[in-house]
Amino acid sequence: MREPAVRKTLYWCEKCNVPLLGRRCACGAEGKAIPLLRPYDARPALAADRGIITGLLRQHFGTESLPSVVILNKTSGRDRNDLIIANGDRFGWLSFDPSSGKYSLELEFGAVPWLLASATRGVIDLTSVGGAYRDVTQGKRIGGKKYPAPVDLPEGPVLMTWEGHAAVGTCRAGSVKVREAGRYIPATYPDPGWDRVISSSISTLKNLERSAIRFIRHHAGRASCVAVSFSGGKDSTVTMELARRAGYGNAFFVDTGMEFPETLGFVRSLGIENILHAKDFWREIEKNGPPHKDDRWCCERQKLAPVKEWLKGKGECITVQGNRWYESFARSGLPPVARNPYYPLQVNISPIRNWRALEVFLYTWWRKIPQNPLYELGFERVGCWMCPAMLGSEWERVRVIHPDLYETWMEFLVEWGRRKGMDKEAVLAGAWRWKRAPPKMRGG
Ligand code: SF4
Ligand SMILES: [Zn+2]
Repeated sequence: MREPAVRKTLYWCEKCNVPLLGRRCACGAEGKAIPLLRPYDARPALAADRGIITGLLRQHFGTESLPSVVILNKTSGRDRNDLIIANGDRFGWLSFDPSSGKYSLELEFGAVPWLLASATRGVIDLTSVGGAYRDVTQGKRIGGKKYPAPVDLPEGPVLMTWEGHAAVGTCRAGSVKVREAGRYIPATYPDPGWDRVISSSISTLKNLERSAIRFIRHHAGRASCVAVSFSGGKDSTVTMELARRAGYGNAFFVDTGMEFPETLGFVRSLGIENILHAKDFWREIEKNGPPHKDDRWCCERQKLAPVKEWLKGKGECITVQGNRWYESFARSGLPPVARNPYYPLQVNISPIRNWRALEVFLYTWWRKIPQNPLYELGFERVGCWMCPAMLGSEWERVRVIHPDLYETWMEFLVEWGRRKGMDKEAVLAGAWRWKRAPPKMRGG
């Protein structure tokens, strides 16, 4: 497959200790390159993300100290699996285990100076630990090897030190897998906030805004129908701001009938002119069964059909949408202009297709645009509250913030599963989300 034109690197100004949108910081320094992982989307750690990370740091190292600016890079895994970047280096990994419903943290060597300066417990001194650990302390090859835990250790991230050296690893079932070991240099870091991140990349933000507005004007021109397709998410919120600045204020939102209360409140607060209503989602579910990750019949019936109905009689319509390359590998080839195959009179244009979530949030904060509160509550993407495409970690958030919705869906699933002769435990464990579960969810 052709390599998509995505950027795979995040640059970081080590002098200001901020991530950059381009290669160079406003201070003049050239950024340090940090390779990202597919789909190469970098985003800020928001309130709920920070709460989870600091909770794990407190649990394992007795500290809640975390730099103000932390970047997350989602990667593939069984469920949520984010690379954590802080202080211009890989800090660790945050993963969610859908079976236990728990998060775990793994450390990268880049976390060593920060943690050694802030940890109040959990750091193991290897100076006098001999045996197998001589491999580690004498600089022998340790890649992938497991060692018996040197002290009674709980499961989770491990940080060890000896004579100006450190090692990070993970303890599972009484043995430690060492990820990396080496000499470390104690360091202190400036702790700027997001305002400083914005000012360090302000010229890139201005350029992005300018070219997105130019793009919208170029493609929308004098078309009689131009409308922003607003989903309630961060990308379409930014797209709507750009379209308004380009001189196009019309927007529509499709209420699928399963929208989060937060999304509906947010849409109301923005005064969107056209709220389109889908058919009764519950009735459709009764007829078709719940949507699955690999069979999202609802996209066509609950999202696209109301738009098609609304566009009828309008002739050709330019729809400004917030789709981005970095959302998933499948979207990395997204063209700037595309006719909707389902409704050819609709021409979709994507002015922020080459933005990462980092650009989206920095633009939001720079222009002081309100965002859907769900992001700060721990959701990475916003859709229906029972969407099968949601991560298990997000479904867990639904349970916490909307127990009534969660219970309603669980009751429905149990009853639906009973009619289908499905195992109740499997249904509750998430089997309903796939028509045919992928090997990673079948334990294969
Ligand atoms: S957000 Fe999810 S549940 Fe809602 S219409 Fe789209 S695929 Fe279906
Ligand atoms: Zn700088």
